[in-house]
Amino acid sequence: MPDTLRELFVDELKDIYDAEHRITKALPKMAKAADSEELVSAFEEHLTETEEQIRRLEEVFESFDESPVKKTCKAMVGLLEEGQEIINEEGESPAVNDASLIAAAQKVEHYEMATYGCLRTWAEMLGEDEAVRLLQMTLDEEGATDKNLSEIAQSLNVEAAEQGGEEEPAIVTPGRRGGNGGRSSQKRSR
Ligand code: FE
Ligand code: FE
Ligand code: FE
Repeated sequence: MPDTLRELFVDELKDIYDAEHRITKALPKMAKAADSEELVSAFEEHLTETEEQIRRLEEVFESFDESPVKKTCKAMVGLLEEGQEIINEEGESPAVNDASLIAAAQKVEHYEMATYGCLRTWAEMLGEDEAVRLLQMTLDEEGATDKNLSEIAQSLNVEAAEQGGEEEPAIVTPGRRGGNGGRSSQKRSR
């Protein structure tokens, strides 16, 4: 166990550095499994953000005179296993499958928000201003991603409830953000 706040910080940094790498491997699979174009875009956009977050973490390591090292994040291994289960056990309703993928993704975002929140606070306590700035930037991104997923879920969950197990495609729900309205909820070909 670490004895100083600085050691604790570096330990936690290694944990999230590992977690972010795992997320970059999971997000393309989530995007491939998603039906809604809006959800596919959300996963793809967050992949780009996550790659930038990894670079930001490397800057934080540098500002602490540490080399970037991964320490297995067991929580992320488990959360992503749950995501993989959803992909493997895909059901008949695309909207319900998407709702399930969103739930798994939001659990990941909340874990990240908790971690980045702690790291940011510890960096403040340690007087590491540059690290605070970088960590806050990522924390804001994770929060925005979570919020976006909630919004997508709101439009999907209606569809899922309306579908009631019927085979007919659900009513088209216009996208909440501009430019993507009129999207079909039918299954895309893979
Ligand atoms: Fe992240
Ligand atoms: Fe962890
Ligand atoms: Fe994230």
